[in-house]
Amino acid sequence: MSPLKPRWPNIIWKPCADRSGPRILGINPWVYDFAAYNLWSRPSGLLTCLDMFSRSGARTSLLDLMDQSWQDQDWPRPKKLGSGHYPKVSLPRPKVLENVPRQYSRYGLPRERAARAVACIDPPPDLILITSIMTYWYPGIFSVIELLRRTWPNVPLCLGGIYPTLCPEHAQNMDVDLVISGPLETEDNWKAVWKLIGCSPPELPEGAGFRMDTSFYKEQPFSIIQGSRGCPFKCSYCAGHKLYPGFRQADPDMLFEHVRKEYGKGVRDFAFYDDALLSGAENMFIPLAEKIIRKGLRVRLHTPNALHVRYLTIELCRLLYRAGLHSVRLGFETSEPARLDEKLTPFMWRAGMRNLLQAGFNPKNIAAYVLFGLPGQSSRKLKQSIKEVLGWGITPMLTQYSPIPGSALFEKAREHAWLKLDDPLAHNNSIWPCVPGGFS
Ligand code: SF4
Repeated sequence: MSPLKPRWPNIIWKPCADRSGPRILGINPWVYDFAAYNLWSRPSGLLTCLDMFSRSGARTSLLDLMDQSWQDQDWPRPKKLGSGHYPKVSLPRPKVLENVPRQYSRYGLPRERAARAVACIDPPPDLILITSIMTYWYPGIFSVIELLRRTWPNVPLCLGGIYPTLCPEHAQNMDVDLVISGPLETEDNWKAVWKLIGCSPPELPEGAGFRMDTSFYKEQPFSIIQGSRGCPFKCSYCAGHKLYPGFRQADPDMLFEHVRKEYGKGVRDFAFYDDALLSGAENMFIPLAEKIIRKGLRVRLHTPNALHVRYLTIELCRLLYRAGLHSVRLGFETSEPARLDEKLTPFMWRAGMRNLLQAGFNPKNIAAYVLFGLPGQSSRKLKQSIKEVLGWGITPMLTQYSPIPGSALFEKAREHAWLKLDDPLAHNNSIWPCVPGGFS
């Protein structure tokens, strides 16, 4: 079994062979939003960064403000498959969102408790890495920076992740010492971060960008797998190519070792974080799934980022079934023949659905994402898409469109948005940014 979580306020430094290496603390900030749900959520980018630093001689630690962190911390009970709710505190809406008739909240650990735990870290870190996910969650970053600056005015802060990669100019307003865009393992970013702590950059460790240090999570109900980075497609509503140009896959043996280790600690639910899990499946997913089956690991696999239906041959569907795929999420988006992407045709959709059902999947465990709130999208088209999904006996999951800077559709979204998109708060899909009148 996995060792117990520490008692509050302990934040544990991971032991490292080099006892003189710098201390690097990773922080996953709070979420400030109208709604948040933990769908096997982990700061995967930050965990890959901590892994790279740890294997380069640094002593690392993590404060994930979206995780229970301590055994004596109140936290909503996870659901059967590991997903679940976060604790939350109601907050006034920011000025930009004052006309949205919904309750705005901070999700995650209580602020005061987190602040007192941070103040107990002794000696202090030499560097703090702050990650970020949604662009419109920047108030959470702002808040955590304020807390860190008050505790340690002289410890350098580095901000990375999705928000500064997609909104670099806006992120420059944050009170940090370094803002990095894109993956840490690029030469410039790697050098810049080491320079910030006065060290020359060591060689990047093997498997950089794929291995995640999940050892900070004790008694975790689920774990995550990053089998690939990037996506070979370029859908006009997505900025995946900005976040990770190109497409790379991890070594399936390395991934299996990660699964085996977590399984040994009692974890049974695994969520893939890939954007294109089944692209080039013969190089990564197929060998990994075959090994999971061969070694008899009885896991439940989840694909919250959706599978590409075009790759669902009957053979692959059978393998997915035998390997333990449980929550099947599909990228359907729309039944319109004139789509905003090239990832799916009606023929591919029907073939993929038939294959999934023939392989034995229960329609109750299959859901297809349907995009809603696109600039200029009519409700008639949306209804057609929902009808098509329901016709297969599976669940349509409405995905509210969020205008993403760097995506091809962003400029068109500006024309349809009811708030100015210059402030990332207006990218929040909960307010239906491109639906006339917004959420009401
Ligand atoms: S929406 Fe999905 S398929 Fe399209 S580019 Fe983004 S990650 Fe790739």
